[in-house]
Amino acid sequence: MQNYDFDLFVIGAGSGGVRAARVAAGHGARVAIAEEYRLGGTCVIRGCVPKKLLMYASQFGPGFADSAGFGWSRMDPSHSWTSLIAAKNAEITRLEGIYRRLLEAAGVEIFTGRAQFSGPNEITINGASVSANTILIATGATPAMPAVPGAQLMITSNDAFDLPAAPDRIAIVGGGYIACEFAGIFNGLGRKVVQLHRGSQILRGFDDELRNHLGDELSKSGIDLRLGVDVVAVERQRGALSVHLSTGEAIEVDAVMAATGRMCNTWRLGLETVDVALDINGAIKVDEFSQTSCPGVYAVGDVTNRLNLTPVAIHEGHAFADTIFGGKPRSIDHANVPFAVFSQPQAASVGLSEAQARARYADVAIYGSTLRPMRAALSQRNEKALVKLVVDESTDRVVGAHIVGADAAEIIQGIAVAIKAKATKADFDTTLGVHPTLAEEFVTLRSRRT
Ligand code: FAD
Repeated sequence: MQNYDFDLFVIGAGSGGVRAARVAAGHGARVAIAEEYRLGGTCVIRGCVPKKLLMYASQFGPGFADSAGFGWSRMDPSHSWTSLIAAKNAEITRLEGIYRRLLEAAGVEIFTGRAQFSGPNEITINGASVSANTILIATGATPAMPAVPGAQLMITSNDAFDLPAAPDRIAIVGGGYIACEFAGIFNGLGRKVVQLHRGSQILRGFDDELRNHLGDELSKSGIDLRLGVDVVAVERQRGALSVHLSTGEAIEVDAVMAATGRMCNTWRLGLETVDVALDINGAIKVDEFSQTSCPGVYAVGDVTNRLNLTPVAIHEGHAFADTIFGGKPRSIDHANVPFAVFSQPQAASVGLSEAQARARYADVAIYGSTLRPMRAALSQRNEKALVKLVVDESTDRVVGAHIVGADAAEIIQGIAVAIKAKATKADFDTTLGVHPTLAEEFVTLRSRRT
């Protein structure tokens, strides 16, 4: 390894890259990392963290409205988007500083700029050439824009975090988790939101009952959710934007946000110089040890399009570093990864959907309930929660859990431990609940639905 400048060169200082760099350095490797934007990557700078801060801000709106049922009066609050964004930016700058200090403390050399391959074991950055024995691609993904006339007038989640003002009327295009979350954010801040999705229901890939339930709840919360419609064009008209739909209708709004998927950052990386194979979607193909088709080149995180979540990218980066530099080979288990949608109300899942379970097991039992959350009793909010368990009857094992309701993201974490530990329905039944909570529904579901 001594012939190279570094043992490991990491391209991209996001969730996966930073973890891999720090762990490899901890194993004694000489490590460098390149970042073209800001340390921390998507999650910290323009993903999970700022999204959740904005979500908290937006929860106060419905909260103020609900408070009357609990005896509060004279609620006439106003909201400053400028103050919110400034506070959010300060927090992100603080977190970015922590990432820098962690890398420096681990002895990782940080390069600021865009890195690309210029040959096997060779990276070019800021006009200079650097060599490394092993190279890790952790470049993440970027919002994809729909191919319609006027697409350049649309914003993406990247822009939404730094708008100079919150639009009074916004159209959000897409039915994935990012679209649902931003619809909830702007709706909670009192903006008029229309969410446009070409599919027959939001959240493709999730349990169908969860999808239908959340779709209804989003509509009840005030979001104008329209399914089965495509945006065919966007044009500027008299200071506003006109969104033309496949139905022939046009909607006037102040901003249009595209949340229609993400593309892997594999272009302008010089991958052709090292023969790294991509799949048809442009993601880097890897094996279970994150090894690409080119010896000495590895890839982790969203750029491999396996499961595009921060804890997954971190886990892949850590496993890679342990395998290559720690003498502890570890493949990655992508099964039973919990997933939350920070919509309002929240939704969360772990394990198999009902349809996936029916495809895999001969006999599947479903336990579920829809209920009015206790808080709604006094707030009078028209809201229903959903709790559902999917069980493989032959073993009694719980193979899927799904929830829509307040704090669903917090609740699913514990359920994920139980499912990972192969808990049976009998184990759930003999566990006592925490009363009164929504979470206790998971251990009190007795009547089999199907
Ligand atoms: P990234 O974190 O994207 O890091 C890649 C880095 O590489 C970037 O900093 C980029 O600037 C840099 N880079 C790219 N090309 C180069 C180059 N050539 N040279 C130098 N640097 C380069 N996940 C969750 O688990 N929970 C959530 O709640 C959640 N919310 C999200 C909300 C939004 C709006 C978005 C967009 C994503 C969200 N995610 C969430 C997904 C999560 O952010 C990603 O899965 C995670 O950040 C992937 O990490 P990564 O290391 O693969 O890539």
